[in-house]
Amino acid sequence: MSERWQDEQLVVRGVTDARVLDAMRRVPREAFVPPASRAEAYADRALPIGSGQTISQPYMVAVMTEALRLVGSERVLDVGTGSGYQAAVLSVLARDVITIERRPELAESARATLAALGYTNITVIAGDGTLGSPEHAPFDAIVVGAGAPRIPDALKSQLSASGGRLVIPVGPPEHQMLHVVTRDGNAFTDTPGLGCVFVPLIG
Ligand code: SAM
Repeated sequence: MSERWQDEQLVVRGVTDARVLDAMRRVPREAFVPPASRAEAYADRALPIGSGQTISQPYMVAVMTEALRLVGSERVLDVGTGSGYQAAVLSVLARDVITIERRPELAESARATLAALGYTNITVIAGDGTLGSPEHAPFDAIVVGAGAPRIPDALKSQLSASGGRLVIPVGPPEHQMLHVVTRDGNAFTDTPGLGCVFVPLIG
């Protein structure tokens, strides 16, 4: 059963995966936004989280998460931890989550938030997520929460060879398309979809 904000923002736009809706109902988004923004935590837009960065719009989190088609057994890489909200949603749906944030202060804050909420299957790393995390690869799924000028080769190479999936906004800073890349052995299928606007992936 979805909540009203989910019906109005997600279901009406075609997000119907019951596991994704359930995960987003269980993760308290208000805990991931600054105290002054708590009343707006479920607004239909991205919100500032400090350091010039944002927590993504709930709809984008839902679309990207749904595109990963997680069943519960996966190792997932989340690039661009930001507040930690996307990582928390993923952690409900997968076995374990590695999340990388290039701004140390955001990585530290997300680590504290996630620990306070009791998430135990998330590892927060401060670093350049365009390089992925070779020591934790391969990943069954990778999601990038920032707009990339092109798809980083390191992320493709760290996908599981048997059906690994990468969801990433690709394009210039002012407008990107959400790409879903699927790996089968050494073959990659790249499907562009929804238009979107994310803060830039640096690196
Ligand atoms: N998923 C996040 C959440 O749930 O709050 C929101 C992500 S925010 C839109 C994008 C984040 O990507 C920012 O925190 C930014 O610092 C980070 N970022 C940008 N380039 C990066 C890189 N190369 N490696 C890791 N993080 C990066």
